[in-house]
Amino acid sequence: MHTIDLRSDTVTQPTDEMRHAMATAAVGDDVYGDDPTVNRLEEMAAAHMGKEAALFVPTGTMANQLAIMTHARPGEEMIAALRSHTFSGEGGAAARFCGVPCTTVDRPDDSITAEDVHTCVKPDDYHCPITRLLCLENATNGGTVIPMHTMQATCAAAREHGLSIHLDGARIFNTALALGVQPQQLAALADSVMFCLSKGLCSPVGSMLCGSAAFIKKARRNRKAMGGGMRQAGVLAACGILSLEKMVPRLYQDHQNAGQLAHHMAALRGIAIDPTRVHINMVWWSPTHPGFSSPAFVAFLHARGIQANGDMGGGRYRFVTHHGISAADVEMASEAVRAYIETLP
Ligand SMILES: *Cc1c(COP(=O)(O)O)cnc(C)c1O
Repeated sequence: MHTIDLRSDTVTQPTDEMRHAMATAAVGDDVYGDDPTVNRLEEMAAAHMGKEAALFVPTGTMANQLAIMTHARPGEEMIAALRSHTFSGEGGAAARFCGVPCTTVDRPDDSITAEDVHTCVKPDDYHCPITRLLCLENATNGGTVIPMHTMQATCAAAREHGLSIHLDGARIFNTALALGVQPQQLAALADSVMFCLSKGLCSPVGSMLCGSAAFIKKARRNRKAMGGGMRQAGVLAACGILSLEKMVPRLYQDHQNAGQLAHHMAALRGIAIDPTRVHINMVWWSPTHPGFSSPAFVAFLHARGIQANGDMGGGRYRFVTHHGISAADVEMASEAVRAYIETLP
């Protein structure tokens, strides 16, 4: 039976075309700069982001951390949103491996405003760390997008203070689609940007860090130091090329399916959801029925061929649509949620 896996877009499988491309990719030793497929992917990624250069790395986490350690020196600090991936989702890596402390901003929508930047930047006082870097995330972990005008104002404030700006754009193509802008317009606000090939774009492995040629040269040195220098990585990069060519243009389908799922969920009793907060391929919702049990819910769906995460914290649940989820799957999923709630007293 086909399982409907709504846990994340990271569960996407490489397509048949990707598997074929892996088998036939021209490869070389990428640490020598010899892998033509990696080189091509890096050129394509840079062009997609409107940056001079790009670096292929195993994970989005590594891309973010390389950005932090390339922009800031140990003891210099960054500003990031409290629930951002860079601060909350990377095992404390900025502190562990970069020596970069963080001042966090806690807004309900996970945005950072120009005013926040002015408040967070430390004075020129030798008691304080030097504030060096602003890390933005768009879309946010909560699946919402920050509007362009907010991004522009926040980045302008950061420039006033001479900060570098890194954009965690793990799902930047979803973000651009939701905002109705080109990815380059988002990337242009930042010095560096990272995006994941391994989520809605279906590659098995890989993320891209993009920036100026000088920045990427330093980041490449840091990637080696962190153990991220890969050899015949062209077998993976071959998939990344197909992600950019074939998977970016179909993301609107995931957004449509997420919108439809949110619409169905909003009609169910015992569920609280704000469909206007569903901007990309993520549907966050909360049960309001007092008898709702996270493990029982997960087991109920599992028995119907649906994989879902339980409570992701604070009574919030998430469904993610992707290449493996059809319009019919979305109907089945919302029907299963309805059926589970029916079982409650
Ligand atoms: C997934 C994700 C990352 C990095 O993920 P990896 O699992 O390390 O590839 C970074 N930021 C955000 C917002 C993400 O969603």
